[in-house]
Amino acid sequence: MTELTNLGVKAIRDGVAAGEFTAREVAEAFNAAVAAAAELNAFIVTTPDHALAAADAVDAKRAKGEQLGKMAGVPIGMKDLFATKGVQTTAASHILEGFLPQYESTVSQNLWDAGCGMLGKLNLDQFAMGSSNETSYFGNVSSPWKKEGTNAAMSPGGSSGGSSSAVAARIAPAATGTDTGGSIRQPAAFTGITGIKPTYGRCSRWGVVAFASSLDQAGPMARNVEDCAIMLGAMAGFDPKDATSLQMDVPDWETALSADLKGKRIGIPREYRMDGTDAEILESWEQGKAWLRDAGAEIVDVSLPHTKYALPAYYIIAPAEASSNLARYDGVRYGLRDLPEGANLQDMYAATRAAGFGDEVKRRVLIGTYVLSAGFYDAYYTQAQKIRALVAQDFERAWGACDLILAPTTPTASFPLGSLNEDPLTMYLNDVFAVPASLAGLPAMSVPAGLNKDGLPLGLQLIGKPFDEQGVLDAGLAIEQRSGFEAMPERWW
Ligand code: GLN
Repeated sequence: MTELTNLGVKAIRDGVAAGEFTAREVAEAFNAAVAAAAELNAFIVTTPDHALAAADAVDAKRAKGEQLGKMAGVPIGMKDLFATKGVQTTAASHILEGFLPQYESTVSQNLWDAGCGMLGKLNLDQFAMGSSNETSYFGNVSSPWKKEGTNAAMSPGGSSGGSSSAVAARIAPAATGTDTGGSIRQPAAFTGITGIKPTYGRCSRWGVVAFASSLDQAGPMARNVEDCAIMLGAMAGFDPKDATSLQMDVPDWETALSADLKGKRIGIPREYRMDGTDAEILESWEQGKAWLRDAGAEIVDVSLPHTKYALPAYYIIAPAEASSNLARYDGVRYGLRDLPEGANLQDMYAATRAAGFGDEVKRRVLIGTYVLSAGFYDAYYTQAQKIRALVAQDFERAWGACDLILAPTTPTASFPLGSLNEDPLTMYLNDVFAVPASLAGLPAMSVPAGLNKDGLPLGLQLIGKPFDEQGVLDAGLAIEQRSGFEAMPERWW
């Protein structure tokens, strides 16, 4: 029998259903792999008992001949941005250290209802702000990948870097991620895995620690397209508790999956050819076009003229919303409280927030309050909202000429931890290709395209029309079948 930790979502689910192995055996194998990979620092807390209890429930159901859930027997990693009842939920911050939610997020509940168990809470950039997983209060996450010929610890991307590292290292078959401006796609690209951010509103935000509410979306990160289709189906769905939740049925993406792209037009946005993009990334983009053409699609040039304004607009809108969302962490209701001797209420707020937030979070709160202040609101925030509308309009126009867009996921491959810390702007540029789809609320996915000459994974991005996750997944499958990406990091942990 293949080692159980080499199996993905579908193989585990089908194997458990067929009685080839028990859910308990799977949970035990992954619990052991998680424990053996502590050096990656992918998890903030591990929850082996949660995984075992869910597995036993699935095995018992199967023994009784009861109907099994869509992901029955699959243990997953949960990004520590999702509130999990009674299990510490920190958003990788000190201010929420020790916080035990009284409730379960809708997405995590949906996954438990589908038969998943939890291996643990995955590390991330603090409050999901970052692109390298270096802003966590609980320490950096390492990618399982190494640049050929070097031993430097590499970034797994961010903010869902615990998720990407765990899936790439085969210590979790799949994990949840969230994407506000690239945090599913960029880490997926950096680690040679697949991740999809669905249309804004597909997955409930209820119980997800808020960063920028008009952009935040949850999605799956897994080893391949089919596993993502299965897991997204389990996560998504209308939720009356989230006012921006889409009141639409969840299609059966898994069953409808097809790599036949006949009749599809794939747009290549000319503005995504930017200075500073790695030559090998441009080559992989060319290769991606050839693969999609081979799958029957027609390749067309399109223009998204406001692309260059998207990242600056994102870095006004996201911090503005963050500064408002993070105002709730004040030492009064939950989390850290720093009450200096003789302090009044204002002093307590200031001391708590000074001690509880990391530097990047403080930077965002400062930017956000600045751009929302009375004197600068129109100059920054209103302008950024106008740009957001123009970016969305660019896509609307492009859909007249194409059905999907193909672009690189990131301008570079992964980089060594520590190498970009002093340079927030270069760090922010990681998401230059990811942010436009976020501002427009569109479904977008990263699929592995191959390795660069340093032996590091590269990703290709597919962006779809609103609600067309199917189109995105289908084109992703077409690329996956042609790239034949099977590389795995060498085990050093
Ligand atoms: N890296 C981007 C940022 O730091 C996006 C983060 C995200 O999508 N959560 O804001």
